[in-house]
Amino acid sequence: MGAELSRRDFLKLCALLGVGAVVTLYSYEIKRVIAQVAEQGGGKIHLIWLNLASDTGCTISMLQASNPDLIEAVENLGISADFWKAIMTPDYDLGWVTAGYTQEDLSQVPLFNAAFGSAPVDVLVVEGAPQIGTPQGSSQGYFCTTGKYNGSPVTGYDLLQRLAAKASYVVAVGQCSSFGGIPAASGNLTGAMSVRDALNQASVSTKHPIINIPGCPANPDWTLITLATILQGKDPDLDDQGRPKAFFTSYIHDNCPRRDAYNRGQMAKTFDDPVGCFWDLGCKGPITQSACAKTKWNGGIGFCTQAGPMCWGCMHPNFPDPPTSAFYAPVADTPTILGVNVDEVGEVAIAGAAGILAVHAIRRSVGKKKKPEEEEGIPPSEPPSEVRQ
Ligand code: SF4
Repeated sequence: MGAELSRRDFLKLCALLGVGAVVTLYSYEIKRVIAQVAEQGGGKIHLIWLNLASDTGCTISMLQASNPDLIEAVENLGISADFWKAIMTPDYDLGWVTAGYTQEDLSQVPLFNAAFGSAPVDVLVVEGAPQIGTPQGSSQGYFCTTGKYNGSPVTGYDLLQRLAAKASYVVAVGQCSSFGGIPAASGNLTGAMSVRDALNQASVSTKHPIINIPGCPANPDWTLITLATILQGKDPDLDDQGRPKAFFTSYIHDNCPRRDAYNRGQMAKTFDDPVGCFWDLGCKGPITQSACAKTKWNGGIGFCTQAGPMCWGCMHPNFPDPPTSAFYAPVADTPTILGVNVDEVGEVAIAGAAGILAVHAIRRSVGKKKKPEEEEGIPPSEPPSEVRQ
């Protein structure tokens, strides 16, 4: 173990600074601690990455991880990624086969060995929404069927139940597995829902609380840090939605680079406005909890409201349904909060604390409109820095 920073020191650092700060400021230390896991453990952590209903964007996002990058993390964490369909090749060692797969199912051998055989599963990562059934009136569904086992089709929901019951940790990566996302949006015909809800429906218990890392896509650095945390035997501090608090406590609006423009009522009319606030154009930053504006993306380069578009609310538990949609409309039905008409904020600047209080009241009232705030995982708003001072 390195003399300058032990694992214990690392964990203290995480506790003191918040993991989000560690991501950007202490990537070197993170890499070193990850290397220590490999040096000391030496063993393999068996990871299954299960793809269900999604566009595989979270896997693509993982390829952009930078603190550390994906290859470095997999190698140094001592992870054996036994199955990750989107990025693996089918040239498996056939001598490893133990489960009752058929010849046509060769690409699924490691997956089926883990689900039906004795191959170990330490960490199950789920990308995409499980689809649990066929709602009345829709067509027959064998959703995310990946092959046959003993002559019967194996659905993604079957695999999820078997693997989740076996795994030490279940990590839902992305909006679809965390909250249902687009597959579970209004009009849902496949019974798509979150991993947590789907396992509850099947009465499947997990050994540790399911960890949700929402987002469309999930932030790869947050995912790797979360994996590194559990591989050190420490459970991340989760909120009531199963999200690591380090990444999902503050609101994007709290740290947005366009916040000054919001405070002085400088509203953008178009998305190519380099300075103005996107509230009038439909920004969902005031109702979305996420560390995007703190840690940023792509190695700390930027994030949505900095890069040009607004925040779409892709990490909000209800995305893409209201209040995150309609996408290009301001959050609905909040014309007057604390006597301030937010629809007119572009014409009449909201001064100081009144404006700040107004927008925090907005997100509270919006959360209650769709479902109780507690249900949405929106804790009482922390006072913005201007108010705290
Ligand atoms: Fe930033 Fe959106 Fe808040 Fe405006 S409304 S300050 S663009 S998060």
